[in-house]
Amino acid sequence: MKCPFCGDPNTQVTDTRENEDGDVVRRRRRCVKCDKRFTTYERIDLKMPHIVKRNGNRTEFDHDKLAGSMKLALRKRPVTMEAIEAAVDRIEGRLLSMGEQEVPSEKVGELVMKELKQLDKVAYIRFASVYRNFADVDEFSEVIREVQARPKRGRPPAQPAADSENDLFGN
Ligand SMILES: [Zn+2]
Repeated sequence: MKCPFCGDPNTQVTDTRENEDGDVVRRRRRCVKCDKRFTTYERIDLKMPHIVKRNGNRTEFDHDKLAGSMKLALRKRPVTMEAIEAAVDRIEGRLLSMGEQEVPSEKVGELVMKELKQLDKVAYIRFASVYRNFADVDEFSEVIREVQARPKRGRPPAQPAADSENDLFGN
């Protein structure tokens, strides 16, 4: 670690300690040349990757939007909100553990389908066939909306639930 005062590359670590949670290491350092002291912190660099859409646009992963889309896919199915939230947490964890800076939206779509398969076979089958023709998660949620907004016989057209909030990653 280069000295911030004189730029000399030779510094000595005089003290090393972890914080209580053990996720940050603090090191006291001394410059061998100018004898000034400074502190460095070391922590794990684990960030959510950006999601790259098919059109090349990058977007932030949005937990709430993804949860909204999955709730829409599982509407009127016997799946609890807690189970859906847990599924989104797992998807988030998988993306995080990939350690990539960027992940294609298709990958997110795959993970969503995998979770749907576990959560509810009917919802999975209903949407898997549709999704396969649409490699992009945004299109996927579009299709979900269209399918669910389709009027049923003898009933008024269903209201699209929570409208614009249902885009997986917005635009
Ligand atoms: Zn120095």
